[in-house]
Parts: sequence; structure tokens; C-alpha cells
Amino acid sequence: MVFKQLKSKRVGQVGLVALALVAGVCSSVAQNGAASGADTSGRSVPGQGMLDRLQAMIGGGKSAWTPEQLAAMERLRDAAMKDTYALDELRHLTYNIGPRLSGSPQAAKAVEYVAGEMRALGAEVTLEKARVPHWVRGEEKAELVSWPGQAAGTTQKVVLTALGGSVATPPEGITAEVVVVDDWNQLHALAAGAVAGKILLFNHKFDKELAAVGDGLGAYGDGVVYRGAGPIAGGAVGAAAVLVRSVGGADFRIPHTGQTAYAPGVAKVPAAAVSAEDADLLKALTSQGPVTIHLTLTPETLPEADSYNVIADWKGTEHPEDVVIVSGHLDSWDLGTGAIDDGAGVVVSMQVIHLLKELGIHPKRTVRFIAWMSEEEGSQGAAAYIAEHKDDAAHHIGAIESDLGADHPSGIYYAGKAALGGWLRPLSTVLGAIGAETLQPTPETGEDIAGLTARGVPSFAPVQDSRFYFNYHHTAADTFDKVDPKHLNENAAVMTVLAYALADSEGAAPR
Ligand SMILES: [Zn+2]
Repeated sequence: MVFKQLKSKRVGQVGLVALALVAGVCSSVAQNGAASGADTSGRSVPGQGMLDRLQAMIGGGKSAWTPEQLAAMERLRDAAMKDTYALDELRHLTYNIGPRLSGSPQAAKAVEYVAGEMRALGAEVTLEKARVPHWVRGEEKAELVSWPGQAAGTTQKVVLTALGGSVATPPEGITAEVVVVDDWNQLHALAAGAVAGKILLFNHKFDKELAAVGDGLGAYGDGVVYRGAGPIAGGAVGAAAVLVRSVGGADFRIPHTGQTAYAPGVAKVPAAAVSAEDADLLKALTSQGPVTIHLTLTPETLPEADSYNVIADWKGTEHPEDVVIVSGHLDSWDLGTGAIDDGAGVVVSMQVIHLLKELGIHPKRTVRFIAWMSEEEGSQGAAAYIAEHKDDAAHHIGAIESDLGADHPSGIYYAGKAALGGWLRPLSTVLGAIGAETLQPTPETGEDIAGLTARGVPSFAPVQDSRFYFNYHHTAADTFDKVDPKHLNENAAVMTVLAYALADSEGAAPR
């Protein structure tokens, strides 16, 4: 999806080569990418038949739920709006366990903790193994050492953070001149050898206006390709290191990390994200004359580790073999404590099982909670799940993932048959009471469930307000206080009502 957008923006040749090299990584780098290429206006997506579209609009046909089931949805919604379980669990994950970088002791502790909580609710818990990256951050610092107008004997700090997966500089750091390009085209236009031995900065600005009108994911998708593919493009032209402007809207000089990638046969160069303010500074100074910085990054890539997806089944009463997934990813970046990305997605999914237990509701089909592992560093947990359940797509009735924070949900994204729109229509009324009535088609709903979407499983996500998400996501400011308890509960309500609806409908969701 991010790919499509890029092509439409006439990416330069170097960029396309770099992108082709990381085609597999870009989607994971792009996080869940849910709506970045999607039509968020509620119009149909290409490929929908006229009949399906009409049906989606008018919601024709018999409701898949009885009045009693719709009343159960209302009870679940109201309980979700009052209950503090999700918030309490989020507080524990973020304050007590802390950041949960893939392969870390905190990630292992979180697996153990969430599994214990799900067992305590009476769900059937399985830990499914996944081999995951184990990258650790190390030291990260940079300073201007020479620039136009410099006061003698001074340096100036540059605020940056290593990109996930980055290789290190020598321990004493490197000193090199900075070359700034705004995009792939500018890189491509440089003379051969212009970047050799230098530090290359990709200064692509995050589109704050796009985020402000509600398309945070679109703004993120436009920028994140530089983070994903910039180091390969830089390595290919002989750069000593690559910097990218932070892919986020934050104004407080905080850098925004995220996974990057290397390609076989291309030199691996150290890579970091500078704050937007420092990118502006480097751009301004390099336009006046030569600028040299000293850069030290000492991350390490340790051997892969064993980790787990936490799976907890609330068994169906009539068709226990048919499952509806509710999920978020348990790993997080290490700068903050992973509250909005994606502790929130995990705890609103835990809340689904908790409320089914509290209200004594046992749907016909199994509701399967999954806390995915290592979404941030390549979705190894999701890949392990697909490998383990590859012949079982037919028994996956639906899959839901929440991975766009915890701000107000205005409704439900759905991927699959256009007829899903009409089929879900009765939920609009139930969720309209909390302002979550919209039903929007999208090509993709979540990074961890993308493999299921591709196998024809109807998939879903809350339509979360993304105006502010990218101010905090992947930064040191992704902390518990950023989650509004009321909005978190609204997300829990959407997840719970939708999971119950999918698991208890008369006949499965259209596919
Ligand atoms: Zn996430």
C-alpha cells in the first residue's frame, strides 16, 4: 500500500531500486498500514461488484443477529464503557513491565504475564513459539563539529536515535560531512560519488496537514519508506551513515525510531532518525556551506531469541473449531513504554475475553485472543502463526487487530467481501451510541493479520482517530498518560461487540 503511494509520487530510480530490495520489509516497516492507501471516505474499493456495493449501501437482507443477540451487544458495549480492566492491564504492562522490545527480558515477562491473566479468566492458553530478532540499542549521540558561522571551540548537539536493526559505527564514532536530500529524486540527481564517505540525510517532511485532517496513516506511509529503504539507498551510493528525518508529527525535538532494513550485496551503514528540528537545522546549515558531524551509534544485533505469541481461546459452544481472532501486538519499541503502540491493542483485546467472562457470554464460535510478538521488527510472530495454521484458513471466521493507538474509534474498517458492509450494518446502531457507527472498506486492516486477510479471512480494525497518534508513536513519549481512559473503553467496546457479533452470528461473515 505504501508502495502504491510512492509510485504515484514518481519516486526516483535509486528509491525504486531500494524499495524493490526491501519489498518484503516495507509492509512491516509501514506498521499496520491499515488505511494509508485505503479509501477512507467510505467509498467502495476497486473490484467490488455493483450488487455488492448496493447491498453494502442499503444493508439489505436478513439480520445475522436476533434481537436478543443485539441486546447482548448493547450489554457488552455498556460494560466496556464502565469497566477499568483494560486500563488496569495497560498500566501494568507499561509501568510495571515497561518497554517490550522483541527478544528482551521485558518481552518475555509480558508473555508470561498476559498468559497468566488469560488463564485466570478461564481461557485455554497456548504459547506458540516464534524466533524473533534481538537487537539492543546501545549508545546514540551526534554533534556538529564544524559548520558555517561556528563559534570557535564549540560543538552543537544533534538529537537522534538509532533505527531498529541498525549496525554500529566504530565505538569512537565517525566524523563526516553531511549531505541533505529531501527525496529520492534529489538523491538520484546528485553527481556520482557525491555521497561517498559522507553522512546522508533524507529530509522528507512528515505531512502534518494530512495528519491533522485525519489521515495520519497516509502521512506516515509517505515518510516511512525513507526510514525503511534509506539505508539501502545510502549504502548503495557509498554513504558512511544514513540519517532520516523522524517520521512523525512531534514538535518537541524528540526523535522517532522504527525498523529499517538492509539488502544482500549492499553495504550496511549505521542508520538513525534525527528530530524534525535537527533535520531543519542540518538542511539550513548545509545550504550555507560544509557541515561536519560526529556520530556514534553502538547498537548490537544479538542472536535470534525464542519468543511467543500468546493465544487464549474462549471456546465456542457450537463450533469450537471456528475461530474469531481479537488481537494486538505485545512487543514495542524501547524508547517509551509502548502504551499506544501497541499495549492499547493488547489490552482492549484482553478486555473482550474479560467481558465475555464477566457477562457469562459463550458465543457459538471460539473467540481467540492473540498477543502477537515482534510486529515492530518484522512480524515474525504473525509469520509463525500462519505457518502453524496454514491449512486452517477456512476455520478462521474473522480476524480483528487494533494497532493504531487508543484514540476515539469512529467505527470499523473491514477487508474482504463488499457484502461485509451490509452484513455489519446492525452493529452501526449498537456502536452509534458511542460515536463508532461508520463501516469503511479498506484493503488491509493490520500488519499481524495481513496474512489471514490475504487468505480470504474477513478482517477488521477499529477506525481510530490518527490525528495525534504519530506525535507519540515510536518515541520516548509513548507512555501510559497518552491514553485517554474513555477512548480506550470505546475501543474495547468496538472490539468486544465486533468479536461477539462475528462469533455468534447466524451463519458466518460473508467471504
Ligand atoms: Zn504497532
